[in-house]
Amino acid sequence: MPEPLLELRNVSKAFRVGAAFLGPKKWARAVDDVSFQLYERDTLALVGESGCGKTTTGKIAAGLLKPTEGEVLYKGKDIWKMNRHEWREYRRSVQIIHQDPYASLNPMLTIYKSLSAPLFRHKIVETKEEAVDKIAELLEMVGLTPPEDFIWKYPHQLSGGQRQRVVIARAMSVNPKIIVADEPVSMVDVSMRLQILHLMKDLQEKFGVAYIFITHDLATGRYFASDGRTAVMYLGSIVEYGPTNDVILNPQHPYTKALLSAIPEPDPIKTRQKKPMQLRSLDVPSLLNIPSGCKFHPRCPFYKPGLCDAKKPGLIDVGGGHMVACWLYGE
Ligand code: SF4
Repeated sequence: MPEPLLELRNVSKAFRVGAAFLGPKKWARAVDDVSFQLYERDTLALVGESGCGKTTTGKIAAGLLKPTEGEVLYKGKDIWKMNRHEWREYRRSVQIIHQDPYASLNPMLTIYKSLSAPLFRHKIVETKEEAVDKIAELLEMVGLTPPEDFIWKYPHQLSGGQRQRVVIARAMSVNPKIIVADEPVSMVDVSMRLQILHLMKDLQEKFGVAYIFITHDLATGRYFASDGRTAVMYLGSIVEYGPTNDVILNPQHPYTKALLSAIPEPDPIKTRQKKPMQLRSLDVPSLLNIPSGCKFHPRCPFYKPGLCDAKKPGLIDVGGGHMVACWLYGE
């Protein structure tokens, strides 16, 4: 097995909630003991409902948040123990694409200004002429042609899909090894989504970039990470993990089964025939009051009293690297 490019080892992140004068400290554990590896040209989809910790995990992987516990290793080195030079190299190599392309571009800056800043900062270009040439190349690469029609425009003059292409061009401008894509198409017109996903896969093919693809939409995650792996998160923990097709076509964890059973089919007759899994409760517990044992036990129809609420299940391999954290498969 090659050395992972990026590895999260038992990473947790807790946020303090509420003001100090309101009483004793309360902590929300947004990410709880998460581990995974990412290799060159790899794709890992992190999927789950909002609040499950996937965005926080992505920010930790990109070095934007420091974990409370655990380690983040880039090429085997703990990123929080790197020297200045190593840190700079890591931050260049791991780029993040946010959900909202409008918020990630400064509305006061032209596309030239937004894209030239990282090029100068990382000394990829030295003069304005070089920057214009490089940006034209990047805009062509992401399908914004002819580039002269875009380079001097402001973000508000572009469509949502075009803005997200600019954001992708900016991420690619510094030759990254990894892109953390946080819901990259959820704010793009439905008609443009597939094109953006194709573009990202093409860039992976051409430049060997690896992706952490964060989404609440299992169908999009399955499409994007069909040749990679998927991790399903619930209340800050990975509950199921493995090759994407195994996880989606043969889900083992009750939570993954519940998520998949709730997805409508394109055929309305099939959707009507589909029976969503009946959960014991529809309420997602608060991060301030995490259930004991298996965090899914208050909602799980397979709950075993005295076991599921007493002991937290660890991830166990049910075959071919397909890991599940559930007492139905252990003890
Ligand atoms: Fe359900 Fe128990 Fe499995 Fe948790 S450990 S998912 S409560 S069966």
